[in-house]
Amino acid sequence: MSEQKYDYLVVGSGLFGAVFAYEATKRGRKCLVIDKRNHAGGNVSCENIEGINVHKYGAHIFHTNDKVIWDYVNSFVEFNRYTNSPVANYKGELFNLPFNMNTFYQLWKVKTPAEAKAKIQSQIDKMNLGEPANLEEQALSLVGTDIYEKLIKGYTEKQWGRPATELPAFIIKRLPFRFTFDNNYFNDKYQGIPIGGYNKLIDGLLAGIDLQLNNDYFDERGRWDSLAKQVVFTGKIDQFYDYRYGQLEYRSLRFEHELLDVQNYQGNAVINYTEREIPYTRILEHKHFEFGTQPKTVITKEYSQEWTYEQEPYYPINDVKNSGIFSEYQRLSQKEQNIIFGGRLAEYRYYDMHQIVASALKKVSVHFGEDNLGLGNNN
Ligand code: FAD
Repeated sequence: MSEQKYDYLVVGSGLFGAVFAYEATKRGRKCLVIDKRNHAGGNVSCENIEGINVHKYGAHIFHTNDKVIWDYVNSFVEFNRYTNSPVANYKGELFNLPFNMNTFYQLWKVKTPAEAKAKIQSQIDKMNLGEPANLEEQALSLVGTDIYEKLIKGYTEKQWGRPATELPAFIIKRLPFRFTFDNNYFNDKYQGIPIGGYNKLIDGLLAGIDLQLNNDYFDERGRWDSLAKQVVFTGKIDQFYDYRYGQLEYRSLRFEHELLDVQNYQGNAVINYTEREIPYTRILEHKHFEFGTQPKTVITKEYSQEWTYEQEPYYPINDVKNSGIFSEYQRLSQKEQNIIFGGRLAEYRYYDMHQIVASALKKVSVHFGEDNLGLGNNN
């Protein structure tokens, strides 16, 4: 057998692959990272346009309650104090998100939590709903008619490409709802954006590690495998097994980026368009993630769309059919000796960035037989 040059071939330079490669390198192992895209970082990657870090694959806001994860990412790049406070535009009227006392005041001019609760409850009571059978009924039973009609219905239908009456009820359980004047979308203790963009985080993780871009693992699978003792695979698990149990389905997105010759287009990083008739779900203005003062601005219109094989897979569809297919692939992957599967595509799972970092660190600690994350006790 030929002598392999690398200990690990890491397929995919997204956050999972980059953390794994960094940690393995720190432990004295030699890694080769490959990616089929022309840049590293996967979906967190930014493109610098006119001095603005453009989130090419949608708005990315780092948030976590875990101090270990927060300190870990901050050891590569300093994060700013950005707080996600999206605004909703419904037929030209503006509302603060998540649903909070500011939103209730904008909707009904109510000034106290008691008034807001009474208003919502009276709308819920009028409908006389039983056990919710779908998303529409679930949302109505939680927030009443006004919030549902103005802020949930159209947006959700655009996101999923289906009427809310045909969507499962559980989707809506994740919406934050509060009775304080607080527009901070996340409840987490720590949040922010890397100063200088996410590429700084990825560059820090991959510093000194061999990286080959524009290389699809499946184009030369045998050659790539021959270069390393073990493979860390962060691509699509169904493709890894030649789709033998069928294709896993996703929901996709389309982004339209525009460079505008104005200093400040919408005054906020994220504005959601909640009416059904406007085809995009939101407009991002990237400079506001980093409090930019550049003379120009870049905006992105985000459209939700059906996924086909040629498109980027964004959100897994965790319904019964796809979960069944995934568990077949997972069964095969658990039998592999020299392959580590990780990340959102190999695990067919939506992960936030802090969860991906945690999951990569956990995989590292299990793989290297350690009982902590190798990060010290800075809890
Ligand atoms: P990816 O970033 O997808 O990396 C996988 C990499 O593998 C890619 O670079 C890909 O090109 C490469 N690859 C795949 N197949 C092959 C192959 N055959 N050969 C070579 N290379 C291959 N998280 C948050 O915490 N906050 C947010 O605000 C947030 N917003 C999001 C918004 C959107 C629209 C989306 C889709 C996700 C968002 N996330 C957010 C989640 C975040 O993007 C993920 O947690 C993270 O990017 C997952 O990293 P990953 O390494 O698993 O996957």
